Amino acid sequence: MRFETLSIHIGNQITDSTRPVVQPITLSTTFEHGNGKMLYSRANNPNRQSLEELLAALEKGEDAAAFASGNAAGTAVYQALPPGSHIVAPDDMYHGLHNSMVQLFAGIHEVTFVDMSNLEEVKKAIRPNTRLFWVESPSNPLLKITDIRKISELAKAQGAILACDNTFATPVFQNPIDLGADIVMHSSTKYFGGHSDILGGALITKVKDAFWEKIRIVQRVGGAVPAPMDCYLLCRSIRTLAYRMKGHVEHATILAEFLMNHPKVEKVFYPGLKSHPGHEIAASQMTGFGGIVSFTVKGGAEAADLMVSKLHYFANATSLGGVESLIERRAAVEGPNSKTPPNLLRVSVGLEHTDDLLEDLAQALG
Ligand SMILES: *Cc1c(COP(=O)(O)O)cnc(C)c1O
Repeated sequence: MRFETLSIHIGNQITDSTRPVVQPITLSTTFEHGNGKMLYSRANNPNRQSLEELLAALEKGEDAAAFASGNAAGTAVYQALPPGSHIVAPDDMYHGLHNSMVQLFAGIHEVTFVDMSNLEEVKKAIRPNTRLFWVESPSNPLLKITDIRKISELAKAQGAILACDNTFATPVFQNPIDLGADIVMHSSTKYFGGHSDILGGALITKVKDAFWEKIRIVQRVGGAVPAPMDCYLLCRSIRTLAYRMKGHVEHATILAEFLMNHPKVEKVFYPGLKSHPGHEIAASQMTGFGGIVSFTVKGGAEAADLMVSKLHYFANATSLGGVESLIERRAAVEGPNSKTPPNLLRVSVGLEHTDDLLEDLAQALG
């Protein structure tokens, strides 16, 4: 089966004698002893099992584990490491998981943040106790590209795990396991959900090894699991993922080119642009460059805020990956320690008609 077919047919388990076409939602928290499959819904339930099968298939892994949020999924990886582990992580990454490493694991693990697009810096950061390389490509919010194959060679030589946050790329455009990753992480809140109405996260593993068993324990015992309703909604949304991503990438490309040529725009960050420093590596590991575009506005944070206030179709809100366009000034959201340029706006390019989006941007930029 190809991607579109997998998305529609995997994880649709029908056991009802009336044979519904779509798997029903099983809300029961408990299951009669002796059924040989399910015990209690924190440990497993039919809708979560369907979602996990679907995610494993799309990311080409042996197994998947669904969580209540992307942060719960990422944090589960750090929890599964032996105490005293050293992590090499990107200097530009999702700030919530950066906070998880720094705040929750202070005194438990050590972390070095480096520019992952610079392999020499990554090599210098390695220590004898380095057990995890954390990669996010494209990264949030600067859209930096990391050469996943190259980092996987370093991880293998070190006997460490390579985990990749694939939220921005989605499995439609990038399969980190094919590029050498051991674990793939997703915030399902974003493109998987696709409609800004579900919170969720996931991990997918290349092989079911001892580390994966540890992650399963974190999931089951830690209990940061999604409800059956959310698992059902995610399966439903993923059925259209491939087609939504085709729209997102087409629209993002048009917007990036428009912004590149606008006199009020200082710089555009989009891996699909030939001028992007990671463009060639992105082209070698992705089949599409995604739907997120960042840009800096001339005139600083004030000019950026003013522009955002004039937009009609781009909601000034955090998050990304929904059908509706969103825009936000990241530095304002990331707080006083943010290294993001203060005049940087991140756009999650939606599926509205691109002429409407371009007209709106043009009037707001003035
Ligand atoms: C949103 C996001 C997360 C965190 O996911 P939540 O579902 O908000 O907990 C992690 N990584 C990336 C790249 C994200 O965009």
